[in-house]
Amino acid sequence: MENQALGEVPSERLPVHFPHPIQVADCYQCGKCTAGCPVAMHMDVAPNQVVRLAQLGEWEKALQSRAIWECVGCQTCSTRCPKEVDCAGVMDALREAGFKVQTARGKDINKDLPTNRIWVGDSILLEDAKFVALTLTRAGVGIAAISRFCDGSGEKTNWIEIGTDHKLINSRPLTVEDIQNLPQIAPRDPSSCGSNGQSL
Ligand code: SF4
Ligand code: SF4
Repeated sequence: MENQALGEVPSERLPVHFPHPIQVADCYQCGKCTAGCPVAMHMDVAPNQVVRLAQLGEWEKALQSRAIWECVGCQTCSTRCPKEVDCAGVMDALREAGFKVQTARGKDINKDLPTNRIWVGDSILLEDAKFVALTLTRAGVGIAAISRFCDGSGEKTNWIEIGTDHKLINSRPLTVEDIQNLPQIAPRDPSSCGSNGQSL
């Protein structure tokens, strides 16, 4: 039972698809994880604070932090923790929360063309798609469009695919503001499906 492993964290405050059981209730904020982290000085939210956000069920804040992407997975924090809290596991779980991300695919698998489009499955929430798009945009990847798969494949309902669409090569990339203000992901429209079933 994943939610029981979270101790005091109310289950209704977990992200819908949070994939891993993680134990954070025992953390008493001693800070040893952060003191040993080799990249903590570059993080906007320190490792012990990420654990605290997880304790409080403040998933949105944790998922929006740059820290989870700056973590290099060295495991030092988990090794140092006197309460056996797997801080590195929390970081891993947050990176994976809510969706599976498939990269280097899409309509055009020509690796010489830049990544410029995100396709998301039926059950992916707008905020999750925005989170991935913002992360890529802030890393310098120009995302020109976000759209739903339209192949109706059940196996992709919880899937985000990042790839290249040659039709968008000359399109202006979305800005951070464009992504933040995106009101919805264009709904699936079978009439706009190409031969491989993806939205155009
Ligand atoms: S070392 Fe362990 S107990 Fe201390 S703040 Fe980090 S996660 Fe919490
Ligand atoms: S696993 Fe991540 S958070 Fe933990 S010490 Fe290493 S870089 Fe820091």
